[in-house]
Amino acid sequence: MRTPLYKRVLLKLSGEALAGEKGFGLDTETINKIALQIKAISEQGVQVAIVVGGGNFWRGRSGEGMDRTTADYMGMMATVINSLALQDALENIDIVTRVQTAIEMRQIAEPYIRRRAVRHLEKNRAVIFAAGTGNPYFSTDTTAALRAAEIEADIILLAKKVDAVYDKDPHINPDAKKFEELTYLDVLKLELKVMDSTATSLCMDNKIPIKVFSLDEPENIIKVIHGEKIGTYIHGEI
Ligand code: UDP
Repeated sequence: MRTPLYKRVLLKLSGEALAGEKGFGLDTETINKIALQIKAISEQGVQVAIVVGGGNFWRGRSGEGMDRTTADYMGMMATVINSLALQDALENIDIVTRVQTAIEMRQIAEPYIRRRAVRHLEKNRAVIFAAGTGNPYFSTDTTAALRAAEIEADIILLAKKVDAVYDKDPHINPDAKKFEELTYLDVLKLELKVMDSTATSLCMDNKIPIKVFSLDEPENIIKVIHGEKIGTYIHGEI
């Protein structure tokens, strides 16, 4: 068996990734497929931390006319629902999983404690970071960058609905140009819709590489951890 390139990864799943074709809520079949992919890399000895979004239920900016902070807390709650669904799917296939929340809810999950998270990872338990950063005005992309820095992850695996980063939306523009590699500065300058600028800057300042790819093909995550040329690789220098 080939040795994976990475020892510890942070997988960022958008809320939408859990909704499947429905685009809203949770799709069990889709979640089970994602769980199998996580199992596949975990069985190869890769430590897996996961940050899940909440956009399949609620985004802070959906709350028109609402107090922004309240709307953002609702978004953070959505990420907890998603995290529990993913934990359940992972445990159904015998992956020991811990959910840690940035907002305390002890009856449901552990509070976020960095050292404890690292310990779980060392024991090959999957760790899901829920409730974002715990702060309004942030995103789960920023959460992914922050947690990746804290746990010293080797890379952020950014699973998207498209297979790579393009200069424009490939669903509506058949001539969209696909990028194999980008620098953080390219992403910021070209205003590419990969992550928000706060998250991108955090990755740039802490030199955390990002691989953007799609989970639609079941083997993709395996290909990524073995360094195969799929998706888009974002890093400091080309
Ligand atoms: N959110 C927040 N602080 C955080 C993370 C998330 O306020 O640290 C809220 C924010 O309202 C956001 C929502 O949670 O719109 C859902 O997260 P996100 O939009 O990042 O999810 P995704 O689009 O990845 O599904």
